[in-house]
Amino acid sequence: MDLKIIDLTETHARFVVSGIRPDMANALRRTLMTEVPKMAIETVEFHLGPIRDEDGKECESVSPLFDEIIAHRLGLVPIPTDPDLYVFKDKCACDGEGCPSCTIMYSLNKKGPAEVYSGDLEPLGGKELRVKDELIPIVKLGPKQALLVYASAELGTAKRHAKWQVTSATGYRYYPTVTIDLSKCDLCEECVKACPRDVLASKDEKIVVADLENCILCSACINACPRAAITTHGDNSKFIFEFETDGSLSAKDTLRKALEILEQRFDDFREEVGQLIEG
Ligand code: SF4
Ligand code: SF4
Ligand SMILES: [Zn+2]
Repeated sequence: MDLKIIDLTETHARFVVSGIRPDMANALRRTLMTEVPKMAIETVEFHLGPIRDEDGKECESVSPLFDEIIAHRLGLVPIPTDPDLYVFKDKCACDGEGCPSCTIMYSLNKKGPAEVYSGDLEPLGGKELRVKDELIPIVKLGPKQALLVYASAELGTAKRHAKWQVTSATGYRYYPTVTIDLSKCDLCEECVKACPRDVLASKDEKIVVADLENCILCSACINACPRAAITTHGDNSKFIFEFETDGSLSAKDTLRKALEILEQRFDDFREEVGQLIEG
């Protein structure tokens, strides 16, 4: 297996994997979507009763939304996750009590009138635990309304709930080949106009493939060509992958983690099959 990065930013990755079968490509896609763990808020405790601010002004612990909706919104806020630091709560040495290895605690204290955003979550710990996307709206508080909550985030995967899904727009396609038979081509440029991805171009009096990896094998060029001069082909041993992350993990860490998980799965499978054969 060979991996070539085409584009890698903090939250987006595009890369080519070659030397694998379609089922292995799908296994990597599913691992990226459902198996890479991240932190997400799982428990939210709401303070009840009056809250007095520094000036002696009294607010009531109410908001225009049900507590369940606020808890759900907080659950969807991407929580920064160090993929090598945290362990699942039920596998932690604290026996699920909650400790810095399995839990991040946040408090949120806001008095109306005001809009509450994800950036109002204050971590009980280092600055690196602050949420990066600070402008996710949670609720708008009216006069004399207030929100005081304590929230704890824990590790999970998207198999349990979508709030633990790191990646979105996760997909792959067969690596394309576009061939132009220049002996048939009359340079009408219909294929260049028909291509929705600017893959083809006219250069030095011939049609060239200018951006092959942008091709989505849609066949628009084949259908537009009056002289049957174009053929396309998808390589089923080479794939172009693409995904985005919600910012809880970097795209690089997400890919590394997915490959580690996949490798571990294959090792476990090999061992189990080996034991069955020996037994
Ligand atoms: S198959 Fe589609 S994307 Fe690829 S070159 Fe032809 S028209 Fe463009
Ligand atoms: S549509 Fe066909 S004939 Fe026209 S430029 Fe493209 S390859 Fe050549
Ligand atoms: Zn713990």
